[in-house]
Amino acid sequence: MMFKKGYNKPTTIEAILARCKDTIGGCIEFHGNRNNKNYGQVSLRGKRIGAHRAIWILKHGPLTRDQHVLHICDNPPCVNIDHLKLGSHKENMHDMCSKGRHMNGRRTECYNGHAFTPENTMYRGGKRRCRICWRAWRNAFERAKRQKNRLINNQRGE
Ligand SMILES: [Zn+2]
Ligand SMILES: [Zn+2]
Repeated sequence: MMFKKGYNKPTTIEAILARCKDTIGGCIEFHGNRNNKNYGQVSLRGKRIGAHRAIWILKHGPLTRDQHVLHICDNPPCVNIDHLKLGSHKENMHDMCSKGRHMNGRRTECYNGHAFTPENTMYRGGKRRCRICWRAWRNAFERAKRQKNRLINNQRGE
């Protein structure tokens, strides 16, 4: 006799990602079960844990009780491994406290005062970048390139 028990299927990274959606900000949001704090919930080896924590364990191996998987992006349902870091319970609490403004540690705005919202935050080389500033920088770069090309073309035209 065959028993088909859905919840006995092993939880894999692929299985979790199959229930996720990409966002503009680079977050991969879990759209399955969520708890009251908006964290994705999956069962891993018979235990119900956060989807972000499960992704971390599946990728990097088991965690101890006081190793917490924290979001660099402050987006609870996000399971993008690049947006996760390991921290202690204390750091977790600290992160939560500093969500306000200008508490030591995490900034909530870029140097030009743009808020680090999920939409306006991107991650390059493990660092948080402001999308508005990055776009401005890129535009300035493109403009400089066009100017240079125009100068070269003018010279040729002479
Ligand atoms: Zn994220
Ligand atoms: Zn900015």
